[in-house]
Amino acid sequence: MRRIFGVALAGTLLFAGTTWAQQPDFSKVEIKTTDLGHRTYMMEGSGGNMTVAVGDDATIQVDGEFAPLHDKIKAAVMAVSKAPVRYLVNTHYHGDHTGGNAPFAKDGIEIVAHSNVKKRLAEGTTNALTGAKTAPAAPGALPGKTYESALALRVKGRKAQLGHIKNAHTDGDTYVWFADANVLSTGDIVTLGTRYPNIDVGVGGNIKGMIAGTDLYLKLADNKTKIVPGHGPLIDKAQLKVYRQMLVTARDRVAKLIAQKKTEDDAVAARPLTDIQTRIGAPQEGSDNFVRLVYRSLKPVKKA
Ligand SMILES: [Zn+2]
Repeated sequence: MRRIFGVALAGTLLFAGTTWAQQPDFSKVEIKTTDLGHRTYMMEGSGGNMTVAVGDDATIQVDGEFAPLHDKIKAAVMAVSKAPVRYLVNTHYHGDHTGGNAPFAKDGIEIVAHSNVKKRLAEGTTNALTGAKTAPAAPGALPGKTYESALALRVKGRKAQLGHIKNAHTDGDTYVWFADANVLSTGDIVTLGTRYPNIDVGVGGNIKGMIAGTDLYLKLADNKTKIVPGHGPLIDKAQLKVYRQMLVTARDRVAKLIAQKKTEDDAVAARPLTDIQTRIGAPQEGSDNFVRLVYRSLKPVKKA
């Protein structure tokens, strides 16, 4: 997700723009690899979590973080297999997941995403809360292969099942299910840690889709499934249930305020998520922004 909450607000402007004047020090980032079993790995650097599935002749990678981390990510992937990466899946268009597209495509890797990822990258976007603009991406950064509702990617000995969740974190979300490894890569529909998930309402993201996606993940998962969220630590099904309940609680409380004819600012001022905020340790601004995004999901802003 683009970090629009709390202390990370500066990061929004940073990653949303095309200039890198204030970029974080990528030279200090190390790629951490977690072995999930069955030749499948979770990798974390700076940006969205990555998942890597190694086959006999080639590798499938999910998300690619930022362009300046390309060499480090490539080295981490090569450390688990010398086979080349054939596919790089974008779980959605945000720069902390797709920033590496251009250099990975240059390596000959096919970038795969939902069709709306290509559209958003090609057209550029404006953040609904901050007004920050993201310029159109270079043609070399666009996905070469797109799909609409479902797509299977195969390399020798491995299969990745891609599925699209409508209007959730964005309008182009993909999850990746590695049934053979019992590993689910959720994209930013699931975001954990000391922050709320982002809902990109400016491109059709919606709390209802976030809940629908999480419900689908709960159906796919069993008690042994390793769930790689878009951000935050590896979780299991029980933890995913807690996350779903948070989304449902937020939706219901904001819906109640809307039913009471509260304006968006009034809903924020009512601080309906204080208990959740305390539990996850998010800053007040993060909680306020999440209320706004849920409010706009349920009561879209009328365009003049
Ligand atoms: Zn995102």
